[in-house]
Amino acid sequence: MDTAPLPPSAAADPMVIVGAGECGALAALTLRQRGWPHGIVLIGEEPVGPYERPALSKPADDGTPWRPMAETAQLAEAGITLQLGTAVTAIDRGPRTLRLADGRRLRWHRLLLATGAVPRPLAVPGGARARVLRTLADAQALFEAARALSGGAAGTSAAAAVAASASLAAAASRAFAPASAADASSAPRSALAFAADANAAPTSASAPQAVIVGGGLIGLESAALLRGLGLGVTVVETGPVLLGRVVPAALARRLQALHEAAGVQVITGAAVEAVTADSVQLRDGRQLPAACVLAAIGVQPATALAEAAGLTCADGIVVDARLATADPTVFAAGDCAAVQTAPDTAPQRSQSWRAAREQGVHAAGAMLGEAAPLVQRPWFWSDQLGHGLQVAGRPEADRPWIERPSGPGATLLLQLDGEGRLAAAAGLAPGQAIARDIRLLERLMDAGIRPDPAVLADAAVPLKSLWPR
Ligand SMILES: Cc1cc2nc3c(=O)[nH]c(=O)nc-3n(C[C@H](O)[C@H](O)[C@H](O)COP(=O)(O)OP(=O)(O)OC[C@H]3O[C@@H](n4cnc5c(N)ncnc54)[C@H](O)[C@@H]3O)c2cc1C
Repeated sequence: MDTAPLPPSAAADPMVIVGAGECGALAALTLRQRGWPHGIVLIGEEPVGPYERPALSKPADDGTPWRPMAETAQLAEAGITLQLGTAVTAIDRGPRTLRLADGRRLRWHRLLLATGAVPRPLAVPGGARARVLRTLADAQALFEAARALSGGAAGTSAAAAVAASASLAAAASRAFAPASAADASSAPRSALAFAADANAAPTSASAPQAVIVGGGLIGLESAALLRGLGLGVTVVETGPVLLGRVVPAALARRLQALHEAAGVQVITGAAVEAVTADSVQLRDGRQLPAACVLAAIGVQPATALAEAAGLTCADGIVVDARLATADPTVFAAGDCAAVQTAPDTAPQRSQSWRAAREQGVHAAGAMLGEAAPLVQRPWFWSDQLGHGLQVAGRPEADRPWIERPSGPGATLLLQLDGEGRLAAAAGLAPGQAIARDIRLLERLMDAGIRPDPAVLADAAVPLKSLWPR
């Protein structure tokens, strides 16, 4: 892609970022921190300022799913113009001008597309009845519906009211706390503790039923939450195991057992045929009662604007290792971008919090003319039912995992690549017990160690001792 210096444009044209999510907000701040002296405009179609999307399915222990990005307060201080509740409707690349839904036009010096992703729709008859979970508005609507359902159940019989144990009631009341800035700033307790309350939820055939379509991370986190709110929950997954290829099968099986112990019914290898007003019908003829349906079947990158502007898209807006598109004034980063690190490699899309942050920072550098390529190692986490899951590196489905004993209730798995280098680590443990080991293993991956598999599996050999000398 063309990295030749651009002819000078009007110096007063601002840096413009479309998408005020994790990636866009970090890019805006980085531009200022690295010395861009002119305007920076951050445009988001949601009516609220940048917030942490992971908290939508991992609310604070007071139930608040709204956690503003730590950096939100710095945006105004940094002189960044934040345009909220405003969608960008078109990109006119010739005159370097954006069109906004309210009719305004805006010229750019450099443009960053950080438009994120949107939930994949459930493409079956009645599929539009299913809720999704991507935005704060989605989370509020989901919890509101769950409150209405669970309140109805408690009122239907004395037995149900008795069954609503004190801990369940506490969990529910926390989950229903209104999402406001004031709530978010009140000292939150651990999100894990909140989800762990699902263990206390009574199993009741008469409880209102929720069906979650999709046994991935967001589906399972939502299952734990809705269970904690007193709903009967069934997760329907098309694949043979939960969590597909992103999590080692051994950890997926442990997570499934945790969910089943909490009263979640898990159905794998089943496809949804239709969604009706009160049920989900499976292709094998089964009919699941459903007062609430959530489709959590993945996301697709938000590429419509870029495509309409003639930018190359292939499961994401295609960018080079600097995060530049073929138009030297336009960049893309975060969930919407497909990064092609070399001409002969397939563009890769990341869908994680840390990747969005790192790409936001990197894109800002590239917009200022820096030539360094992006270097990223995938990492993601999930909190469910009082357990923390973390996966770092690039696991390959067909390679064996090496198990390393790692404390009570913990499973730590490691994978070497074809050349014997430590390439991936995955762990599941109560609380955050696995976090320290994964952090250390990430540093060992960066150092390129080629450990003896027997040594890796030996808990008597400290991980630190594997550091290259
Ligand atoms: C419920 C949930 C839980 C998650 N949990 C985890 C987790 O535990 N760990 C993890 O690593 N990742 C997690 N993720 C993923 C992570 O949050 C995303 O990868 C990250 O937020 C992507 O950031 P982004 O800025 O690229 O996109 P987004 O956060 O999607 O932001 C894009 C923004 O652009 C706006 N936009 C789009 N088009 C336009 C337009 N035309 N005009 C104006 N604005 C526009 C959108 O409205 C949106 O606000 C989770 C995501 C969700 C939804």
